[in-house]
Amino acid sequence: MTDGEASVRAFLTSPAAQVMEAALDIDALLEDAIAIQQIPAPTFSEATRAAYIAQRFSAAGLSDIARDDVENVYGRWPGRRPDAPALLISAHTDTVFPQDADLTIRHDDHEQRIYGPGLGDNSLGVAGLLGLLRLWAAADFRPDGDVWLVANTREEGLGNLDGIRAVWKRLGSRLGAGIVLEGMALGRIYHAGIAVRRLHITCRTGGGHSWTHFGQPSAIHELIAASARMIALSPPRRPRTTYNIGLISGGQSVNSLASHAELYLDLRSEDPTALAALEASIREIVTGAMRPSVAFEVAVVGDRPSGRIPIEHPLVQLAAAALHAAGHKARFETGSTDANALLACGLPAVTVGLTTGGNSHRPDEYINLEPLRSGMWQIALLASIAAQHVAGWGR
Ligand SMILES: [Zn+2]
Repeated sequence: MTDGEASVRAFLTSPAAQVMEAALDIDALLEDAIAIQQIPAPTFSEATRAAYIAQRFSAAGLSDIARDDVENVYGRWPGRRPDAPALLISAHTDTVFPQDADLTIRHDDHEQRIYGPGLGDNSLGVAGLLGLLRLWAAADFRPDGDVWLVANTREEGLGNLDGIRAVWKRLGSRLGAGIVLEGMALGRIYHAGIAVRRLHITCRTGGGHSWTHFGQPSAIHELIAASARMIALSPPRRPRTTYNIGLISGGQSVNSLASHAELYLDLRSEDPTALAALEASIREIVTGAMRPSVAFEVAVVGDRPSGRIPIEHPLVQLAAAALHAAGHKARFETGSTDANALLACGLPAVTVGLTTGGNSHRPDEYINLEPLRSGMWQIALLASIAAQHVAGWGR
């Protein structure tokens, strides 16, 4: 038996665990998730959703509720020893959907699913914070150290993990470990963050008329030619290293030589050195495409650090034991979540989920209802036990 399994077993025999299990309320969890999902929260515009969460934190009895200047919402569940290392439990509030997106949800009773943009990623994760507070209130749970519950912003896209980075700046020195909640990651334990770099590449030329000035450079043609060289690159498969041109735009009209074109490139790797080598190749291509009449510019618009804790770390082992106790298999994963920024700062952290689902970042995103109860129970086990043990893990 691992230490994680032993501590889950011990916790399950406690009166607090029995009260918490009886207090599991999946209807309330879903109601919260939908209420949160109905408030638009595109990355950088999370204020309305943040205000709602702050009010819910306050109703749930958290202490020291605060909002910072990037709209992170903080609340503290006090422990017995306020000077002991604290546990951070976070979930991101921002979504990839625009302010005016249709957020209508659809219940599919036959498939046992609920469809809704942003419902799984990550309204359900945020609702998980509230669900946890319900259980802790019912059991009058007093952990060893403080637990900070944080609904943070700027996880998606160009948010660049700036929300959780601000959390680290504010709370880092007090923290002993972190748990990040993602609505649809049930069964997975992210214990390592891949490194991500995002480049915005712009090309400018003199432009002109498609007929009169044919032969003079077009920013679109130049950018496409450089892109063709980029997608001919073969980054290593081990360590896994990838690229993607995710957005491309430019030009004025069909009969103009484009004077301007741009693209966004996403580079990822399990290894920072391999990532740096890939970026260097990209920059070489861009530099090679420059001529007096063709200007390129490369801006770094995203930089997510990498970091990891081993599978043997007590936090990872506890997360696996909590999953097993709730009836799920554990898959250890490398990914790009808020935990990256925490791991990069040396904080032991994992990302775990509440249920399964699909089509994330699409309007037809859905969550599966059947695994929700065991998923929420797994979170309760992990968070409650971690809150008791975090002081012993060291940093
Ligand atoms: Zn997410």
